[in-house]
Amino acid sequence: MKILIKNKDINEALKKVSNLGFVPTMGSLHKGHEYLIKQSKKKCNQTLVSIFINPTQFNNKKDYLSYPKNLKKDLNILKKLKVNFVYIPNKKDIYSFKRKKSIVLKKENKVLCAKFRRGHFEGVIDVMDRLTNIIKPNKIFMGEKDYQQLLLVKKFIEKKYKTKIISCKTIREKNKLALSSRNQLLSKADLIKASKIAKELFNFKIFLRNNKKTKIHLQKKIELLKTNFDIRIDYLEIRKKNNLKPSLNIRNSKLFIAYFINKVRLIDNF
Ligand code: AMP
Repeated sequence: MKILIKNKDINEALKKVSNLGFVPTMGSLHKGHEYLIKQSKKKCNQTLVSIFINPTQFNNKKDYLSYPKNLKKDLNILKKLKVNFVYIPNKKDIYSFKRKKSIVLKKENKVLCAKFRRGHFEGVIDVMDRLTNIIKPNKIFMGEKDYQQLLLVKKFIEKKYKTKIISCKTIREKNKLALSSRNQLLSKADLIKASKIAKELFNFKIFLRNNKKTKIHLQKKIELLKTNFDIRIDYLEIRKKNNLKPSLNIRNSKLFIAYFINKVRLIDNF
């Protein structure tokens, strides 16, 4: 496994690689990341994983500073998975040039997390553009756990590059909680709470399949979750799978939630 830090190391190392799979991460790796890496290894000749906590996608400095870091453990996981390259760039190299055209989300895309985390996706798209330009992968593997991110990045990257974005299912604990690096910031009791919320929403999705008056049920569910679990909810909404337009029919749509347990913000979709 080769560890690459500088952009020129990348050029040298990847010169002769064809069909390269790329898995971008912010580190603190878990079974969700491992799944993406395994998919890349299956579908590509070689796999590169990046670890970079991108400052521009955090709309809150405290959140950026408290983001979990476990580089030693991450490298052990990647070695075991027999990843070919790990790219650990520094901020200076990634942001060495100013973009010509700034990234602006269309009004119709300013929903869900784009509405509640201003500037977040602009930062994500910017860094994915820079990473894709440096690495020039054939395929990028991304998780449905961050569904809105997946759709926005796919649209931008596939329009500008030959690179394909491959979407991968959400990996969950047995208790239904979606794996996330941020779970490390939760206490045991809070982890149990988050798992109960996930179970509740799985059941709610089934309920919605068989019931009308979706709007009223959604409103009731928001109130119930708030009182039963003492959480702050940014949104609980049903939106179409392909374009995230509002929907009242769960059949071609997904249920999206973003909520806080104490100061930790969690997102999921069902
Ligand atoms: P992150 O390190 O949180 O920026 O995530 C890096 C990639 O892993 C993104 O494409 C995420 O969507 C994906 N990912 C995060 N959690 C999961 C999960 N539980 N299952 C599948 N993919 C995930």
